[in-house]
Order: sequence, then structure tokens, then C-alpha cells
Amino acid sequence: MTLQVRFSEILPCGNSYEVLEIDGLSSQQDFLLKGNLTAHCTLKHRTDAEVEMQGQLKATLSLTCDRCLVCYDFDVDTEMQVLFQSVSSEYKHLIELECNVEELDTVILDEPVVDLDDVLRQQLYLALPLKNICSEQCRGICARCGENLNVVECRCNHERQDLPFAVLAQLNNKNIIKK
Ligand SMILES: [Zn+2]
Ligand SMILES: [Zn+2]
Repeated sequence: MTLQVRFSEILPCGNSYEVLEIDGLSSQQDFLLKGNLTAHCTLKHRTDAEVEMQGQLKATLSLTCDRCLVCYDFDVDTEMQVLFQSVSSEYKHLIELECNVEELDTVILDEPVVDLDDVLRQQLYLALPLKNICSEQCRGICARCGENLNVVECRCNHERQDLPFAVLAQLNNKNIIKK
């Protein structure tokens, strides 16, 4: 069931929503939702053709670390502020060309309907980290033996640490030969 709100349903004092589930999230491959998601939001008219959404989105996600491939928890707690503009399609491209001087995310709609599932899903994606890393100190996986270096100290580790010096020594040798 998707939650769609027509502009005409929005009361002068604004409509408030509490959402505990977003449609279409279970099929996402990038992350798993752990437990419940909570979103509070208020929709309010700015003009007849503009609706502003303010709210907060909280969730705990399970992400996979890019370095060590282990799953870790990531808390999302984000403030949402989105402006919806309903315009007929003939003007749509003109508005999209205009600079958006406001700091609000602006969404141009063909129909005066806000699809809350869509919006919340997008907001959740915007809150994801650019890189999935379980911790700054994550040492990743050994390129040689495949051991998770956060858990075990593998035998090839010594060679790994020596490697940069070995490369430097080689470079120095080349320079000497050139001279
Ligand atoms: Zn990691
Ligand atoms: Zn190793």
C-alpha cells in the first residue's frame, strides 16, 4: 500500500503523518533495514501549487563494509525539508532550467500528488554514506590470503608492511642507474 497525498487533501494548518514502513524497501540490495523505520512529517501548502514537507526520518540499516565485507549497523537520523511544485508538463522543463536559490530539495510533480513512499525512500538513499566503512580503523581484507585483518593477524602481513619500502628501494636503484 502506498501513501499518496493529493494537494487538495492538505488542510490549511497542514497534515501530519507518521510512517513506520516504506513500500519497496525490502527489494533493495544496498542495505537491509533493521527493525522499524520511523518517519514523522508534515505537509503544508505554501501556495496552491506548492507544498512544503518538513520532518524527520530515523532508521537503523545494516550495511556491508567495502573494505572487510562484514555487515555493520548504520543509524540514519535525518531532517527532511522538501518543496513539491506541481506544474503542467509544458512548463516543466522551464522550471527545471531555473536555478534553485532556496536550500530546499525541490521536487517537480506532473500531478498535484505527493507519494510519501517515494519521497521517504529517496530521503533514505540521500542519508546513506558515500563509502560503506565499518570504522575508520578498518584494516580490510588481506589481498593475499583473504583473511579479515580486523580479526586475525595473517602471516603475509609482515610482507605487506615491508612492501612500500621495497618499492622505494627499487625506485632508488632505477634512479641510480639513470645517473
Ligand atoms: Zn570493515
Ligand atoms: Zn594475508
